[in-house]
Amino acid sequence: MTAAADAVAREADRLTELDSAIGDSDHGGNMRRGFEAVREELGEEVPATPGAVLMTAGRKLVSTVGGASGPLYGTLLRRAGKALGSAERVSREELAGALRTGIDAVAQLGGAVAGDKTMLDALFPAVEALADSGGKDFEAARTAAEQGAEETVPLQARKGRASYLGERSIGHQDPGATSAALLVAALAEADT
Ligand code: ADP
Ligand code: MG
Ligand code: MG
Repeated sequence: MTAAADAVAREADRLTELDSAIGDSDHGGNMRRGFEAVREELGEEVPATPGAVLMTAGRKLVSTVGGASGPLYGTLLRRAGKALGSAERVSREELAGALRTGIDAVAQLGGAVAGDKTMLDALFPAVEALADSGGKDFEAARTAAEQGAEETVPLQARKGRASYLGERSIGHQDPGATSAALLVAALAEADT
């Protein structure tokens, strides 16, 4: 979560710039506000288990981020945390499985499918890469997420604010796919 908050703080301007092309110019601010609140909350008291850390972080994102990305990322973390249960130690494989559960919950909540030009276009390839490596290779997940984010450029948005632009959403990288790739990169970083 610290690596994620650092990455979001570092790249917030870029996320806002991407959101200014096909959205409402707040994605960097939304993400920064949310992850700084998570950093502060976890700084006061670190929950006892990895699952509780993710659930606490997810709740914080939902309560501090206005906009689509708050409930979506919040749901991802809360559902992943819930999937981990009360285990005190979690393997890479278990974390990979929990992330898949969380990402599937995002798809269910937002109703988006692959190719709709959303955060899922970075998140789905990441969980696929994890599955292909038996839940072990977070570096491969990072590469897949970054590639997935880049591949949103030629897509037309079918969900969220960017979809209001219709064909004019083509030719820009999706802000949420970009932040998703950042979060997966932070996870890979934390795994080293
Ligand atoms: P808002 O669009 O409400 O201003 P943000 O700018 O913080 O919220 O987040 C925008 C991002 O949220 C988009 O780039 C997209 O990746 C993601 N998003 C929007 N709607 C959905 C959805 N239904 N499913 C998945 N992701 C979505
Ligand atoms: Mg926005
Ligand atoms: Mg907004």
